[in-house]
Formats: sequence, C-alpha cells, structure tokens
Amino acid sequence: MPTLNNTHIEIIHPSIQRGQVHSVLFDFDGTLSLIREGWQGVMVPMMVEILQALGTGETESELTALVTEFVDRLTGKQTIYQMIELSAQVTDRGGQALDPLTYKRRYLDRLWERIEHRVIGLREGTLTPAEMVVPGAFDILEALRRRGLTCYLASGTDQPYVFDEADALGISPYFAGGIFGALDEYERFSKAQVIQDILRTHHLQGSQLLAFGDGFVEIEETKRVGGIAVGVASDEARRQGIDDWKRDRLIQAGADIIIPDFREQDVLLDYLL
Ligand SMILES: [Mg+2]
Repeated sequence: MPTLNNTHIEIIHPSIQRGQVHSVLFDFDGTLSLIREGWQGVMVPMMVEILQALGTGETESELTALVTEFVDRLTGKQTIYQMIELSAQVTDRGGQALDPLTYKRRYLDRLWERIEHRVIGLREGTLTPAEMVVPGAFDILEALRRRGLTCYLASGTDQPYVFDEADALGISPYFAGGIFGALDEYERFSKAQVIQDILRTHHLQGSQLLAFGDGFVEIEETKRVGGIAVGVASDEARRQGIDDWKRDRLIQAGADIIIPDFREQDVLLDYLL
C-alpha cells in the first residue's frame, strides 16, 4: 500500500475529497484512550466460559473463534449488543439465558479489576495521561482546535465512564461538539445517530466529516454518509506500530486511510485539510 511522504500513513483510497473538513469525530477506546486496553481479553473468556458451561461438546477453541467473531464485529457499538448476542447464543444452545444487562454488569465488574489501577493512577498522579493515550493524541486534538475544527467524541462504552475517563485523561475540553456514550436505554444512542446529528446541525455534506476509529462500526457508519474514515490500527499494548489484525478489519470496513497512531498527525492533517 502507498504511504504518505515516507510516513506510516497508508492511503487506501486516494480519491477521497480532501480540504473540506468541518467536523471531526473520534471513537474513544483504542482510538484515543488506552485505559480499557485488553478488554477483549476479559470479555471473550467470560463468554466462552458461559457457553462452555452449557456442555454442548464444542471445544474451547471453537467457542473462542465463535465469540471472537461476534465481539469483533460488534466492536464500536454499545457493549450491550455483544451481550445480546451472547444471550442469543446461550438460547440457541438450549440454555437459560440471563438478561443481557446482567451479563454486561458481570463483564464490567471483571474489566474493572483489570483497569481500576489505571483510573486511580491517573487520578492520583502516579500515571500520566500521556502514558494512557494513543501516542500523539494530545497533539492532534490541539492541532484540530487550533485550526478551528469542532471535535466530537462518541463511544460504545457507557456514558458515565466515558465522561469520567475523558476527564481523567484531560481531553474533555477538546470536544466542543460534545461527548457521547452508551445509555441504559440503548436505542437512544448510536454512532450513526451522532453522525446524523453532526451533519444536520451544521448542514454538512459527507465529505465535511472526518472520523477516527479503531472499530468496525464507526468506520462503516462514516463511509455510509460519504465521510472520510481514518482507521487507527493502534497496537494498544505496545503503543508502537500497527496492529495488523485491526488494520485488515478496518480496511474491510472501508477505511480510507490507516495510521498506527497520531505521531505523524501534522503530515496527516496537511494532507486532509
Ligand atoms: Mg474503539
């Protein structure tokens, strides 16, 4: 794939309309924040455990493949959708499924054990925000603000957590457009709705919307309205280089550009704006 001026920025679709961006949408987890890094390693085994307990004779690796497929496909949507799918899988196997919300709470409790020290560390100052964001995140947010573009944050994580974690990272002030997350009444929020609201509020055409995300959903929804979608194939654990698996998935979802992180944000913004 061609890259831009000897950078790590991969141009997948060179024909996009550049130079018209007005509003910029960011996904949160994996795109900006690393606080929830490793969440898949909590969600997938929990689901595999639940399905395995039904005793269908499927092996752990078969169930892991099955669960990984739908968890990944639904990444970027609210967490509850992954739990709804789990409930359906339990029912399909003749099991007595719990309320998806119950599964979600169980998952969040387990995830909290993994990430608690990060949130507390940020609050108490033993961890710096720079260590808990995708590299260059502050630089791109600052650069976008300087250029007068309106930024929005939309996450499939529950809204109170998104508010709390964005504050802990010190990035909330950059989102003049607003910060949005999953609601208990989950039909009342979706990334597609946020995108529609942005377009409507500012009377924008698709090409005036730029979105950054590391999940399937935000890329797909951005492309659906003709926006510019930048896939952030961040390697969240190493904070360096490309996650090849994410990259492939983001390209499949329709990403126009792939970046490993925001280290080369100045070249990228010169190209796009
Ligand atoms: Mg994400």
